[in-house]
Amino acid sequence: MNDFFAPKPKENEPWDTAIIGSGPAGLTAAIYLTRGAASTILFAGDQWGGQLMLTTQVDNYPGFPEGILGPDLMSKIRSQAARFGTEIIEQNVTSLEKKDKIFIIKAGEKNFFSKSVIITTGAKTRWLEVPGEEKLRGRGVSSCAPCDAPFFKDKKVAVIGGGDSAMEEALVLTKYASEVTIIHRREEFKASQAMQKKVMSNEKIKIVWNSEVVEFIGETNLEKIKIKNTLTQKEKEIDFEGAFVAIGHDPASEIFKGLLELDEKGYIKKFEKNGFKTATSQKGIFVAGDVHDSHYRQAITAAGFGCMAAMDALNYLDKDTPSW
Ligand code: NDP
Repeated sequence: MNDFFAPKPKENEPWDTAIIGSGPAGLTAAIYLTRGAASTILFAGDQWGGQLMLTTQVDNYPGFPEGILGPDLMSKIRSQAARFGTEIIEQNVTSLEKKDKIFIIKAGEKNFFSKSVIITTGAKTRWLEVPGEEKLRGRGVSSCAPCDAPFFKDKKVAVIGGGDSAMEEALVLTKYASEVTIIHRREEFKASQAMQKKVMSNEKIKIVWNSEVVEFIGETNLEKIKIKNTLTQKEKEIDFEGAFVAIGHDPASEIFKGLLELDEKGYIKKFEKNGFKTATSQKGIFVAGDVHDSHYRQAITAAGFGCMAAMDALNYLDKDTPSW
């Protein structure tokens, strides 16, 4: 295969584009940028790949009629990004600053320089923030069934949440646990009908409606969960050896506070400026994926936004954009 490789910057020159984040948005942006001949550096973080690395079967990503495992899909997209010359750095970015027209990205002990930036840092697990949760994390309390389910063979576990993630966690756990109880704060799920159907028809899954977790209890490992009925306010303790919190995610945007405008939930605000549809409040910085999208949050939409941000960045690099 006679592949094209994007150029690398000469010594002391900035990269054309720095991508921060290595989920479907970031890696798709890298494919488009390198194929557009932009020198591209991508900061993958110390745990690359984003949320799909914690998923099992993905049946709704086009091109895989039999479905594909989340980590396998990410490996394929990463190989595709690397094929055209993306420089991948497996470190977390700790700060982003702008000096004159150049961005300074700090990762590890080093500073990197670029003419444009695409932020695709995605979203991270939301925790309940109740007593016992932090202490028992990794000791029975988890947020990743595909990672931890095998530890709960023949044990009683709970899943907290009512969205698609909670349904997926519960279904994964049924392969190992003796019994899976979904604890949800309302009396209907938010999850898609297809996922609800799978859950409702699984004999190993029980549902506790209208209940909030108020405490995780255990000395060294989780032993019980204290729940409160939201209708009667009555509290009770139930024995569980495992608990999987699946109540959604928050945008990974802390390090951009001050530099970029965020909305009240911390999502990076996206603007339409000079014809760019993925612009942020800062000239030369574009955004894609779950860090700005609280609505669709799908791998395929993240990839689509990544493509848009890359095309915007290529246009930005091509012309001297006057104002923002
Ligand atoms: P969601 O925001 O869709 O659901 C979060 C759930 O957690 C809701 O049921 C919510 O309750 C509950 N919740 C939120 N905060 C609390 C709290 N403090 N205490 C108790 N319960 C709480 O997040 P998901 O992570 O489930 O899904 C995110 C997106 O990813 C969705 O678009 C989903 O469709 C998608 N997804 C798709 C999958 C697939 O297609 N296979 C798999 C996983 C996710 P309430 O309902 O009362 O608001």
